Amino acid sequence: MVALGALLAYVRSMKTACYLDHNATSVIRPVALDAMMTVAAEGGNPSSVHTAGRRSRSHLDDARRAVADLVGRRPKEVVFTSGGTEADRLALSQGWSRVLISAVEHDAIRFGSSDADHVPVSGDGVIDLDALESMLSEATKSDGRILISVMWANNETGVVQPIAEVRDITARYGARLHVDAVQGVGRLDPAQLDGVDMITVSAHKIGGPPGVGAFIVPEGLPLVPLITGGGQELNRRSGTENLPGIAGFGAAATEVSAAWRDEVARIQRLRDRIELAITDTAPEAEIMGRGATRLANTSNIALPGVAAETQVMALDLDGVQVSAGSACSSGKVKESHVLAAMRPGPDGVALPIAGQAIRVSLGWSTTDADVERFIAAWTRMRNRLSAAANAA
Ligand code: PLP
Repeated sequence: MVALGALLAYVRSMKTACYLDHNATSVIRPVALDAMMTVAAEGGNPSSVHTAGRRSRSHLDDARRAVADLVGRRPKEVVFTSGGTEADRLALSQGWSRVLISAVEHDAIRFGSSDADHVPVSGDGVIDLDALESMLSEATKSDGRILISVMWANNETGVVQPIAEVRDITARYGARLHVDAVQGVGRLDPAQLDGVDMITVSAHKIGGPPGVGAFIVPEGLPLVPLITGGGQELNRRSGTENLPGIAGFGAAATEVSAAWRDEVARIQRLRDRIELAITDTAPEAEIMGRGATRLANTSNIALPGVAAETQVMALDLDGVQVSAGSACSSGKVKESHVLAAMRPGPDGVALPIAGQAIRVSLGWSTTDADVERFIAAWTRMRNRLSAAANAA
């Protein structure tokens, strides 16, 4: 009964909510929900040798294959984790003597490597490859094991990093490359990840459940586990597997592998409609990162003079859910380090625009009606708040 009630609430919310925050967490796909409930109801531990254990093991193997396919890797390379954050931590915790990260990485990387060197980005948020190369060549003079960690696509702006070029530079200097692919998976061609050493993936950005992710690492690359114990995941991550979550991840991955190209084409049309309407209505608005290659689902829209938090709240009151790219777990909005890196002001003080942009992120469940509702709500908000900001 509880499950039925939850399902009805889910279906109702799909019909009524204008949810445009898929980069924070996407809407769970029905196939994922179904797989989770089936596997949770069955029970069983994949390490047990009896019938229930073997059935669980086969669900685990299926999900591993599905996640491997999603990133074009082999199943043995997939280590299930509690999410993208843990996978990022695994990459960072391998005893590197030096770590270089882009200046726009997610907090999971930034705060996981406090002494990392930050590689600057352009005004559109793309990593400066010349700076990367010179920092790397400097680092290799003294340091032994060097890690470069660069995200595939940015969670706030959707800007896609030139992973193939970063990989070539990294390889030239004998360093290792980790790519936080959390926002790119299911939205970009996995072939772009060819030759990358380590990859982070998270289930809830592709319509799977939160609290499950994967670290993708070649078998030949020794991995020091963060969590030791029962030796699960080939001794690379101990703890009884979160099988319902992993099954949901696997089901979402299977659907995404089959559907992503069509989904991306449909979503791009919707996102472009939003950007056209906004730039037509409001010449003062700026689409951040627009000059770069971006994810088809993301639009980071700055409205000069109006705090991001105020915009998010005004839209929410009007029934539209988006976020400031920089919301933190307390729900407060802080200035965006991503936008600050793209627009560094004089003396390293971020320009006001770093706190005046919202992130609109679409997903598999977004409809034409959602987009029209957003445009109408954004226009009302802009007319009211921009006028107030100008009068002040
Ligand atoms: N990396 C990026 C780029 C993200 O956007 C996120 C989540 O927002 C994470 C890592 C963390 O993933 P998780 O929420 O699964 O821990």
